This record gives sequence, structure tokens and C-alpha cells, in this order.
Amino acid sequence: MFQHVEAFAGDPILTLNEQFAADPRQDKVNLSIGVYLNEQQRIPLMGAVAAAEERLAQSFHPHPYLPMAGSPSYREHARRLVFGVQAGEPLADRVATIQTLGGSGALKVGGDFLKAWFPQAKVWVSDPTWDNHKGIFGGAGFEVGTYPYYSRETHGVNFDGMLAALRALPAGDVVVLHACCHNPTGADLSLQQWHDLAKVVQERGLLPFFDIAYQGFGEGINEDAYAIRYFAQQGIPLLVAGSYSKNFAIYGERCGSLHVACKDADDAAKVFGQLQSAVRKIYSNPPGYGARIISTVLDDAQLRAQWEEELTAMRVRMKQIRAELYAQLKAKLPGGDFEYLRVQQGMFSYTGLPVEQIRKLRNEHGVYLIESGRMCLAALTSVGVTPVANAMVKVITE
Ligand code: PMP
Repeated sequence: MFQHVEAFAGDPILTLNEQFAADPRQDKVNLSIGVYLNEQQRIPLMGAVAAAEERLAQSFHPHPYLPMAGSPSYREHARRLVFGVQAGEPLADRVATIQTLGGSGALKVGGDFLKAWFPQAKVWVSDPTWDNHKGIFGGAGFEVGTYPYYSRETHGVNFDGMLAALRALPAGDVVVLHACCHNPTGADLSLQQWHDLAKVVQERGLLPFFDIAYQGFGEGINEDAYAIRYFAQQGIPLLVAGSYSKNFAIYGERCGSLHVACKDADDAAKVFGQLQSAVRKIYSNPPGYGARIISTVLDDAQLRAQWEEELTAMRVRMKQIRAELYAQLKAKLPGGDFEYLRVQQGMFSYTGLPVEQIRKLRNEHGVYLIESGRMCLAALTSVGVTPVANAMVKVITE
């Protein structure tokens, strides 16, 4: 019956992880992954999350189905976090929000919703982007194209190229934008560039779909949501896929949110209904445990303050690792251009190292990066910086 089923080629990052696990070298370093690790090389259990779990464990909780749209208190918190507004404020009332299975679930439900109501649209993602953008929107039935984004020369955004491409798109096409901490390059738009982009999006009648998987990992919770809030304030209809996987270190509980900012509250009510209809057809309703943890933390002023402090510490640590790696590389190779390590945001940087050097790093030094040259700085410890810098200098100068 299943003879014709083709073997799954696997995910290149996961395959690399398996290779890393089987590598017997003691001093190996895995910088190919997409999670934040602490100085002990573990995914942290945030104190605020642990405290919320303790509270939940001490009270009796049955496990009912959640509504299709998810927990009302979770949804309210998610909207406030992304848009910075509370229920009753004009902007809040025109945003339809549902709880989703991580950021991936938000992209999927958003993709199915868009395919149902904008069947002619094409989806445009940055070149490069998180691989699964293509998978999810392609899976929802869209043709997926790319717009220029990253410049290998400047290690920054090719903003002119990006704008020119977007200016040429037909009205109603969907443009996927990383709100902060671009994955995989770490290169983000400046505030002025967001303003300029908003103008083009508005003039061309494009539909932005923001992906914010790293809120709080760039400059801060509010700062990282700047573009979304600015676009929404300009009255631009938009979608947002939010994720708590990284900023609550709650990867496996699948906590995310999908928001659709509409023209008015009437449109938002209709869209909210259709989002529920999309959910019903995929997984019926979202899981409860992670949502309880998030609501417990964000409902309580003390736990919320603790969470924000812990999130700040994670962000500061990533910036310190970036600064330290930059300083060591600059000291050892004064002519090299490593400024990008300090300027880029979030967990990742594009090193720009050619694939032969990436392979040498792995084979000769046990330093694992994915072959695109993306490095996960959030997986590097302060002890690990020197050996990684030395290995990079060796492969660059050999
Ligand atoms: N968008 C981007 C840009 C990501 O990097 C990721 C996670 N790696 C996601 C979405 C998915 O997030 P989640 O794990 O919450 O599904």
C-alpha cells in the first residue's frame, strides 16, 4: 500500500544535530541550533515559569477543551504584548486575536485563512528567510516568491532592492516581514526604513504578515514590536504571528498567537469567526497547559516583573557574547570586518563564511554551523567564545 511513499530527506539542521550528538569530541560546540542555551548549555527553565508551574500544581485543574480561539486571558495578554494596547482601546478592538500552537501554528492558521479569502494572492518572503515560511505558505496552497533582503557585502539589509521589489507587486499580495531579530541573518530594518516601508506597503495596497518569534531578544519587548505598532497606527491592515517559544523558553508547550489588525471592529469580528473556522479544520482547539503558565505569569505583577528581568538578562547575555566574539576576532584579525556581530540582532548572525570554511570548522574544530553560514550566538557560552574565535581565525587564514 505504501510502497510509493518517498523517503523524507530530513531537515538539514536536524540532521546536523544528529551528527553533532554522535561526535565524540569533548570540546565540540553546536552553533547550528535555533534555541537559546544558558551558560550550562541547557535550555533555561525561567524562574517565573517555574513559579507559575508550582502555583498550578498546587491547585486542582481539570483539563477541559479550550475554545477554538484559545484562552481569553491568554489572548488578551498576547494582544497587549504585541500591540501595546488594552481591550477597549480603539486599536485593540479592531484586532482579532487567537491562541495558536507556537509561531508555526499562527503562520499556518493565518496562511489557511488568507488562502480562503485572498485566493489570488502570492506570498513573498525575504531572501533568505526561515525555511519553514516557504513550507507553511506553500503548504497552504500559495505560490511563494522571494524579495531581496540580505546584502553579503554590507552584512545588512539591501533596503533599496527590497523596496524596489515590493513596489512592483500587485495590490493584495502578502509580504512576510520579520518584526525583529531576522532569522537567519540577524539583520533588521532601522526605524526610518520601517517608516519608508510602511509608505510603500500602503501605496501598493500590500498585506503585511509580521512574524515576531523573538520579541524581547533584540532591544526590548516594546522596541521589538515597534514596526507592528507603527504599521497598525498608520491604519494598515496586517497579520502577526507571535511566539512565546523563545522569550518564555517554553518551546515544547507550543504557545503562540495570531493577530489580524482590521479596518474596524466589525471586520475584526468577522475575521475572528473565520480564524476559528480555520482552527476547527486543522486541530479544533489549542492545548491548555502552556497557556495557563503564560497567563499565570502575565496576570501577576510580581511574576511578570520577574519574567521581564529574566528576559532582559537573556538579551544582555547574547549581546555580551556578540561583543566578546567581535573583540577577539578583531584583535586576532584586525583587517577583518566583524562589525556585523555587534550590529545584528537576536540569536543569529550570518557569518558570511564560505561553505568550505564552515565544513572545516565542523570537521577540524568541532564547531557546528549550518552551511548557509548562520551562527546561533545564543548557544555560545562565555567559555566557548575563545575556542570558537580561534577556530574561525584558523579557517579564515589557512
Ligand atoms: N518564525 C521564525 C522566524 C522562527 O525562527 C521560528 C522558530 N524557529 C518560528 C517562526 C516558529 O516558532 P515556534 O517554535 O513558536 O513555532
